[in-house]
Amino acid sequence: MEKDLGKEIMEMRECYRKGNTRHVTWRRAQLKGLLSFLAEKEVEIFRALNLDLGKNYVEAFRDEVGLLKKSLNLALKDLKTWMASKEAKLPAIALLSYAELVPEPLGLILVISSWNFPMGLSLEPLIGAIAGGNAVVIKPSELAPASSSLLANALPNYLDTQAIKVIEGGPAVGQQLLHHKWDKIFFTGSTKVGRIIMSEAAKNLTPVTLELGGKCPAILDSLAWSWDKEVAINRIIGAKYGSCAGQACISIDYLLVEKPFSSTVVELMKALIKKMYGDNPRESHSISRIINKHHFLRLKDLLTDQKVKDCIVYGGSMDEDSLFIEPTILVDPPLESAMMTEEIFGPLLPIITLDKIEDSIDFINSRPKPLALYAFTKNEVLKERLVSETSSGSVVFNDAIIQFAADTLPFGGIGESGIGKYHGKFSFDTFTHYKAVARRSLLTDFWYRFPPWNNYKLEL
Ligand code: NAD
Repeated sequence: MEKDLGKEIMEMRECYRKGNTRHVTWRRAQLKGLLSFLAEKEVEIFRALNLDLGKNYVEAFRDEVGLLKKSLNLALKDLKTWMASKEAKLPAIALLSYAELVPEPLGLILVISSWNFPMGLSLEPLIGAIAGGNAVVIKPSELAPASSSLLANALPNYLDTQAIKVIEGGPAVGQQLLHHKWDKIFFTGSTKVGRIIMSEAAKNLTPVTLELGGKCPAILDSLAWSWDKEVAINRIIGAKYGSCAGQACISIDYLLVEKPFSSTVVELMKALIKKMYGDNPRESHSISRIINKHHFLRLKDLLTDQKVKDCIVYGGSMDEDSLFIEPTILVDPPLESAMMTEEIFGPLLPIITLDKIEDSIDFINSRPKPLALYAFTKNEVLKERLVSETSSGSVVFNDAIIQFAADTLPFGGIGESGIGKYHGKFSFDTFTHYKAVARRSLLTDFWYRFPPWNNYKLEL
């Protein structure tokens, strides 16, 4: 196995060196190939996402196929502009000159991805890497086997197989791949494995982009209430349960509200959860399932602590056979419990009550920097304080998760939630080296450029 991988990777590097992947025609052909894959295999993609995660196809289109098509169309439209050299000014000492930033591909890229958006998280970085003119190996997550196998079996019919390969496998294959030299590693997954990736990459000084996780807080200010309470709660519920059943890196992990306000919030949440998922959510086709038994039991464990269990105010039922967990709300689980110290990554929503909503700033700042921070508020002072006094990959006011769909915003974390960014032009930049190229005329130089400077001796 190891020997075969080594041979494949060496052949890919040879292929990259021949220079094919640099041409705009090659890049366009691959991007168009991906568009054809999404169009022709749409039903198979929906089927795979349903098999792996019980994803409804509306959700699958909204979060994966639709976003990928949008990114591909943007890349195809803007590719020539992105690839063009950008003029730069040189200082006066470089008289009669001009300079450019010349975008060049990085070379051979390794993309290791996660299972919760198995199509999106494998193909979105691939779009950037192709647009940048690179050769790419994708290792999808073994935990979404139907999606991984579809990518491995179908993509070769649409892409240049000499320069783009899908290698399936779990952590062992990931480790084998890490033993080889790459020009960039793009990793989506846990902070724990992110540390392993970075330390392996350091051996070859390989640059990394790490798209990691963590606990994303949402603040619900009572001031938002008078304004449009149903809109706010709908968006909170949608962001918690409606995107892969909370198994999303930018899902709301916990909600901060003022104490006297919490029971009102819970009551409205209950009503709106029922509206979305019916009286028996287990029968609903609109909520994804937990990826596997291991993660089901991990989530179940979060609720086994009696002190945490006592905090459940809604839901809490689960079915191991169908990997179903009911949308669940808890109020004030102990802050030292695993529920409040580990990323939840599932349909359990703790509400933490505060004396004043402004206390949320200290609450957030005393924990690792999140990938996203959400605040539902009309309070402009609070908004400004959140932007300037907290640190996170992104901040969204009065909504959640929509930042993921924006090509114009960089997507990525800070601190323990990640390193680097992508989406839209940021993806191209992530897989591109901007080479500084300066060109001078040989005609003339300023007198002070070269010695002797004898007439300018400083008397000290
Ligand atoms: P994970 O870290 O367990 O696995 C991610 C990938 O790494 C998989 O392909 C896996 O096979 C591989 N892997 C695991 N161990 C490895 C090793 N030792 N060497 C090489 N490769 C190895 O994470 P996961 O369970 O797939 O995903 C859940 C985590 O990912 C959560 O923390 C979530 O927040 C985060 N996530 C982040 C984003 C983002 O865009 N920031 C998106 C999705 C998920």
